[in-house]
Amino acid sequence: MKTAVTSQGLTYEELAQKNKQYLWHPFTQMKDYLEDEPVIIASGNGRKLTDVRGKEYWDGVSSIWLNVHGHRVPELDQAIRDQLDQIAHSTLLGMANVPAILLAEKLIGLMPPGLTKVFYSDSGATSVEIAIKMAFQYWQHKGQPQKARFITMKEAYHGDTIGAVSVGAIDIYHKAYSSLLFESYKVPYPHRYRSPIGGNDREQTQYFLAQLEETLEAYHKEVAALIVEPMVQGASGIVVMPEGYLKGVRDLCTKYDVLLIADEVATGFGRTGQWFACNHEDVTPDILTAGKGLTGGYLPVAITVATEEIYQAFLGDYVEMKTFFHGHSYTGNQLGCAVAIANLELMERENLVSQVEEKSRWLAGQLEIFQSLSHVGDIRQKGFMIGLELVLDPETKEPYRWEERMGVQVCRRARELGMLIRPLGNVVVFMPPLASTRDELEAMLGILYQSIEEVTGE
Ligand code: PLP
Repeated sequence: MKTAVTSQGLTYEELAQKNKQYLWHPFTQMKDYLEDEPVIIASGNGRKLTDVRGKEYWDGVSSIWLNVHGHRVPELDQAIRDQLDQIAHSTLLGMANVPAILLAEKLIGLMPPGLTKVFYSDSGATSVEIAIKMAFQYWQHKGQPQKARFITMKEAYHGDTIGAVSVGAIDIYHKAYSSLLFESYKVPYPHRYRSPIGGNDREQTQYFLAQLEETLEAYHKEVAALIVEPMVQGASGIVVMPEGYLKGVRDLCTKYDVLLIADEVATGFGRTGQWFACNHEDVTPDILTAGKGLTGGYLPVAITVATEEIYQAFLGDYVEMKTFFHGHSYTGNQLGCAVAIANLELMERENLVSQVEEKSRWLAGQLEIFQSLSHVGDIRQKGFMIGLELVLDPETKEPYRWEERMGVQVCRRARELGMLIRPLGNVVVFMPPLASTRDELEAMLGILYQSIEEVTGE
């Protein structure tokens, strides 16, 4: 049966056909995708999305971890309209613009103390790419060009450009490109559920810091920087660090004269219940990258923020060639910066970050019920970042086989029940918009519970 004509004057079937004919989707096996009925989003409102056939879904993954207040937020919509009445875009190469200046000032006010200069780009991956080049060139300017390698964490994800993949370590995403990449040293991320030792947070922290120190001791003379996803390693399956680890990483980087890059692309802007994950342990990195939630989930703006020490190292006479040779066409885009300012102002007015903190404590209580599902092996949470690891056998922690696509199946059932989420292998990720109310969260958790229960056969 043909569906009604959509607002674009096309039926669902016509759009689905064009989708099939012209589009190649990110992180998607198109062969599988084309066998499925595509969801085609027509509109959004608050925490919900509506497809062209009129079915509503909760945005349970914040449109890939970035939505803050919801969709069609009047203040954010208006900020873009107002900016459009001035100008949409002019370059930041050699000239400035009003929203880019004002946003940079606002951001520095929110950053961990000691970060003073904002460099704009347009995605999380580019913000990481910039951090890598900045750290690399910094040591050249300091007369130590041999400090040119990077330390990263096993299972890290920092984006999909070649530099970001070189400091990434998720085999299924990165292995195909291995011969294209520069090599980095890899140390284990402190993963309590899959840790080789038992023990409490303090023991875990000590154990994993000792491993890091071994690597630093051996290689620090050739290492420019260590890059880490602070407090939560996202794409590896929402893995939460034990207390004290991040602070320990900061201290070790200082001790061995290695720059610390905190990749806050996923964790920044309130997602973990603090403005930045680094705030949980009063850590100031040398370079911080962020994106995603910066514009409330509206437009692609990302930032790489550096300390004065790093910025100053790039100053010199024109002929010295100390310039940071990096930039993108849309760097400092006015529409993006304008909506980012509106987003941050609304977050402040609504005290959103404290609200996330408070609601996440309540959420932790709500999540306890998932323990009654016998294939939920681990429940991980920091703020509004939640991962439920599904296992075949909770006693032995034996994972489901990749071919079983357990995560995919759960998310497919959730979609039928009216919530859009995306898995990470066997980990079901729940990442609601930060402004979701308790009632909304309860409704979303209900779908999550039912989906896992039905698919894992409880
Ligand atoms: N860094 C981290 C920690 C991320 O989680 C992501 C994306 O999920 C990225 C970088 C890449 O961001 P983007 O997809 O905007 O390039």
